[in-house]
Amino acid sequence: MAKQHPIMDKIVSLSKRRGFIFQSSEIYGGINSCYDYGPLGVELKRNIKEAWWHEMVTSRENIEGLDAAILMHPKVWEASGHVEGFTDPMVDCKQCKSRFRADQIDLEKPCPTCGNRGTFTEARQFNLMFKTHMGPVEEDAAVVFLRPETAQGIYVNYLNVQMTARQKVPFGIAQIGKAFRNEITPGNFIFRTREFEQMEMQFFVKPGTDEEWFEYWKEQRIEWHRNLGIRKSKLRFHEHGPDELAHYAAAAFDIEYEFPFGWQELEGVHNRTDFDLRRHAEFSGKDLLYFDQQENTKYRPYIIETSAGCDRTLLTCLVDAFEEQKLENDSRTVLHFSPKIAPIKAGIFPLVKRDGMPEVARKLHDELKMKYRVFYDESGAIGRRYRRMDEVGTPFGITIDSQTLEDNSVTVRERDSMEQTRVSLDKVAAFMEEKMQNFRRE
Ligand code: ATP
Repeated sequence: MAKQHPIMDKIVSLSKRRGFIFQSSEIYGGINSCYDYGPLGVELKRNIKEAWWHEMVTSRENIEGLDAAILMHPKVWEASGHVEGFTDPMVDCKQCKSRFRADQIDLEKPCPTCGNRGTFTEARQFNLMFKTHMGPVEEDAAVVFLRPETAQGIYVNYLNVQMTARQKVPFGIAQIGKAFRNEITPGNFIFRTREFEQMEMQFFVKPGTDEEWFEYWKEQRIEWHRNLGIRKSKLRFHEHGPDELAHYAAAAFDIEYEFPFGWQELEGVHNRTDFDLRRHAEFSGKDLLYFDQQENTKYRPYIIETSAGCDRTLLTCLVDAFEEQKLENDSRTVLHFSPKIAPIKAGIFPLVKRDGMPEVARKLHDELKMKYRVFYDESGAIGRRYRRMDEVGTPFGITIDSQTLEDNSVTVRERDSMEQTRVSLDKVAAFMEEKMQNFRRE
């Protein structure tokens, strides 16, 4: 395996140490490229999904949600082009037997694993779909696939959704769910895995208006990543040239992030034309036309797709937030998460374990926990308690001290600036809320 970037090593180790991400089945030696989200990881992931759902569904009237099954009729994948064309070119090193995606390495150069030159096999096309069997018989007729993208569940349901929700074109359908791809070379931690989650939205538009909507969604989506707290200088668009365009797309832009291992795709925005609906009409025998009541015409909508990886967005948030900071007489590791996605919103600390401070702190904890994930900690020096929270990206540290007992005020320490503000106990939630709303990183 190629060596991992040192920053990635630190992020992997922090993720494990603090309970963000564990290797799957670790006690059995792990399984390649499969990961489990621990207590903090699952909070972070839920917050990201929640932010996406809020942005794409809750705050819009013209987008509906859907949760389709992972297993679908096998014909879906014939119609979509996946059976025939969802392949990557694969080569093997004849010397050490390592496998690579032919488009990801320079075949003129030595093998990245063993260093031998000129030892690759001819490229063969490898289909990335996972196959399994439905029912108790293992015969060809029972073969089904684990979906390699969530999009198809949306296409085959588009009229169900449109009619039941009484939507009119233009409208969208959004879905978050697992997808599976038997990647030839997974790697870079959770960047490329074989099981992952997607957050996809398919927007159905009148043909002829697709280019305009495509521009609209490009901008909306990059802005969303900014609002998640990702630094602007680390985000860019990459337009697919004619050689990169997928079989279904008329235009495609990737939103890319600059990871320690280079600029890489984070989300795709695609103009899929009427390709998918046309193919599903052909294969299913249903015409899948939309009836435009106002104009009394029928047509097949074009589709603009926004397709983001949830795990990859989470990795982006981790990488972008990670900093080893030198302080005057000290250093600290800090995750500068947007408070919106931070797994723990506040640490609550009685300065000492006596004089009634723990009781006040507990009471505040019990109030705040009705709304936020918060963490009560009374052990060790206060500085160390702050550091532990910095390392997992907790934006606020709230300390109950002797002054609290006199005037009901607490110290709120902010993670990034380390500034401390006296806030009265009954205003703590409002203080946090205001800071959360206005968070943005440059
Ligand atoms: P690539 O060419 O890098 O394999 P792709 O262009 O086929 O990827 P899409 O089909 O556009 O990727 O997938 C949409 C999004 O789903 C990606 O931007 C990414 O965030 C996520 N994604 C795709 N494959 C994986 C994977 N193996 N692991 C994690 N996330 C993935």
